[in-house]
Amino acid sequence: MTKKNLFGLTLAELEKEISPLPKFRAKQIAANIYKHGIKNFEAMNDLPKNLRAELSERYEIRIAEVLKRLDSSDGLTKKFLLGLSDGKAVEIVLMNHDYGNSVCISSQVGCQMGCRFCASTLKGLERNLTAAEMLGEIFFAEEFLRGRNQKLDSVVIMGTGEPLMNYDELIKMLRLLHEDYCLGMSYRKITVSTCGIVPAIKKLRDEKIPVTLSISLHAPNDNLRSALMPINFAFDLKNLLAAAEDYAQASGRRVTYEYILLGGVNDTAEHARSLAKILGGQLANVNLIPFNPVAERNFVPPTKASVKKFFHFLNTHGITATVRKEMGADVNAACGQLRAKL
Ligand code: SF4
Repeated sequence: MTKKNLFGLTLAELEKEISPLPKFRAKQIAANIYKHGIKNFEAMNDLPKNLRAELSERYEIRIAEVLKRLDSSDGLTKKFLLGLSDGKAVEIVLMNHDYGNSVCISSQVGCQMGCRFCASTLKGLERNLTAAEMLGEIFFAEEFLRGRNQKLDSVVIMGTGEPLMNYDELIKMLRLLHEDYCLGMSYRKITVSTCGIVPAIKKLRDEKIPVTLSISLHAPNDNLRSALMPINFAFDLKNLLAAAEDYAQASGRRVTYEYILLGGVNDTAEHARSLAKILGGQLANVNLIPFNPVAERNFVPPTKASVKKFFHFLNTHGITATVRKEMGADVNAACGQLRAKL
């Protein structure tokens, strides 16, 4: 008999699953799974022996298993390939910043959005991840760190996939992650990245879960953005910026705009001027990301001088900008480089 996996169930789902057992048993099981990271019912010492045996017969507690690991030469970035139950695999990246440990997780196997500079979309979308699988990516990182006396400080959903195209499972995972009986992670420590699915941004605003929204912008005008990101044909910059600003006002969270600098494509003084103009007055930060080469893509990195000028222009024209510290480029763990192989 195939055992049902209890990992990823909410407390209400657990109560229903083990009914007619009393509700406090579900609470104990949830605490064992999520708080104590126990994967073997026999080790749940606060449950009667016969119940532990019964649970072991019917259920299992399974999160993704690690297939491969790559460490960057500076030791600050680790990339893991995690195997899922159907044989598919996803990548996560664990980064040790000076402000803490952060994990970047995937939301889909592959991606259908077709951004021209991105490695994750090369084979299209294979499937959505479930809430349990996304939570499993985070738990894998959390357990890895706990084993080294460290803790996970923040979660970024910016790996392979477009999270807002997997909306319901994403929201379920975020709510579960925030629950006290789970990791109790503050929504403020969570960033959801999107290429700009405007109706989903509006829906997210109404969920009242104040995660940080990160918009992959990458161009300051519609012509260039449509050439780089096909999603712009469906939702243009005007609509996207209005939805993002609306989200910022409703959540009180500053929106982060990701801007990959592609040498000679979107990194000139003119582009910087246009970007400052369209973001002027918005509750926003800009994160500049010098392009990391991807074998199958023809773009080139920007020069150091153009990055410096772009950064300087924004910061002296009312836009808070940072240049993302290049982490993990030597293990292909940098933005736009994730795909399910190491
Ligand atoms: S940048 Fe994000 S949305 Fe665009 S193709 Fe890559 S994974 Fe998909």
